Amino acid sequence: MPAQNKVFIDVEVDDSIRDDAAIAAKLEEVCPVDIYKNAGGHVQVVDENVDECVLCKLCLEAAPTGTVHVRKLYDGTELSL
Ligand code: SF4
Repeated sequence: MPAQNKVFIDVEVDDSIRDDAAIAAKLEEVCPVDIYKNAGGHVQVVDENVDECVLCKLCLEAAPTGTVHVRKLYDGTELSL
């Protein structure tokens, strides 16, 4: 059976930052559990790591307000600063 991802957490980035190389690099650098990958200057969310999120908010601080969404699927709320 394939491993299930995004059971507890869903991470989404807005189109407005998806192709921003500086933000892609920053997100890859700050996330302690490698949820963001700098894919040649584009922000990529690594689905298989998403449930490892430790809710540290570093990604929210690294990107413009409202462009990164970390949703806690287990209680229906979204992480905010
Ligand atoms: S809150 Fe922390 S662990 Fe979760 S995605 Fe953002 S940087 Fe990564």
